[in-house]
Amino acid sequence: MTEAMHLVLIVEDDAGLQNVLRILFEANGYRVVAAGTARDGEDDARRYNPDVVIVDLGLPDRDGIEVIKGNRTWSPMPIVVLSARTAETQRLKAFDNGADDYVVKPFSSPELLARVRAVARRQARGLLP
Ligand code: CA
Repeated sequence: MTEAMHLVLIVEDDAGLQNVLRILFEANGYRVVAAGTARDGEDDARRYNPDVVIVDLGLPDRDGIEVIKGNRTWSPMPIVVLSARTAETQRLKAFDNGADDYVVKPFSSPELLARVRAVARRQARGLLP
């Protein structure tokens, strides 16, 4: 199985950034579903069962941490936080609630892609959750 088959769910309320991420992942062979709120993100996660979720923390309706917690009640799907929040307490909170990786904005596109490949590989090896 190649990464070309992977479906990425992007939960990001900034429409411009959501578009940048969509273009980035589609250009690298991923299928993309995008949501702009925590609620839509949780609904899309259940509907599409993505291979990887990328979640912003500053969402308009709820904190992105709630998306992570919600997904973790039913799925081990890899979750990568993409946030402008750099505080250690935020990163620890994300990891302790089920995030698999944490990337700080502004981010490096090659590094984000590499981290997504890494969590997808760990998932494929049965090393996650
Ligand atoms: Ca945001």
